[in-house]
Amino acid sequence: MKPLRVVIVGGGFAAVQFAKTLRGKLRPSECEILLFNRENHMVFHPLLADVAGASINADAAAAPLRQMLPGAGCRTERVQRIDLPSSEIEFEDGNGALTRLPYDHVVLACGAESNLGIIPGMSDHAFAFKVMRDATKPEIKKAVETLFGVKVEAVRVANVHGKVKRQGRFVGRRPDWKKAYVVLKKGEKMVEFFDQA
Ligand SMILES: Cc1cc2nc3c(=O)[nH]c(=O)nc-3n(C[C@H](O)[C@H](O)[C@H](O)COP(=O)(O)OP(=O)(O)OC[C@H]3O[C@@H](n4cnc5c(N)ncnc54)[C@H](O)[C@@H]3O)c2cc1C
Repeated sequence: MKPLRVVIVGGGFAAVQFAKTLRGKLRPSECEILLFNRENHMVFHPLLADVAGASINADAAAAPLRQMLPGAGCRTERVQRIDLPSSEIEFEDGNGALTRLPYDHVVLACGAESNLGIIPGMSDHAFAFKVMRDATKPEIKKAVETLFGVKVEAVRVANVHGKVKRQGRFVGRRPDWKKAYVVLKKGEKMVEFFDQA
């Protein structure tokens, strides 16, 4: 019998863990795993601060997906569309042509991005930061102005409840945290650090 084809979109912690777990449970003869990621490597985000601080090389914060997932097919391609009625994904191949591929199951593990586009102008002038829970708006304003050499127009903060996480039999909760949206004064531009990121 033909193996089931499971297509995973994404190559971060969620996708890699899912692919590893599935491979551990089902043999290649039972299940073909195809992972599509825009990059050929997985980034260990928690280590990025050390890369920025030059205490480790950038290479140390990324691992090739093919090495991490010997039991899965890893494709460095961007999935453009999922056609649910026909159970097919549409992706851009290496030559820029759109190609379709049928699947039996599709798993979306393509991460999340803050949608700053819902308020006109916000994506051009506002930046989101994770801040200390006791940081005040004036403190955030001062820190951003000092660190990035810009003038801040406004700071908005939001308290975020920590996610509920299950680990085996245990259910716990991540700590609550605080997010700050910093809006720059008209004409101000964030430094090269953000332009190059
Ligand atoms: C600087 C920083 C530090 C962090 N530190 C911590 C920490 O200490 N502890 C902690 O728990 N969390 C931390 N996080 C958060 C953690 O990194 C994320 O929660 C986690 O990476 C989310 O994993 P994910 O697999 O859901 O998504 P991601 O890691 O975002 O992976 C999604 C992948 O999908 C790919 N993709 C997206 N769309 C497509 C498409 N259409 N086609 C193909 N591929 C696509 C992307 O290229 C990306 O590789 C940190 C995050 C950052 C940015």
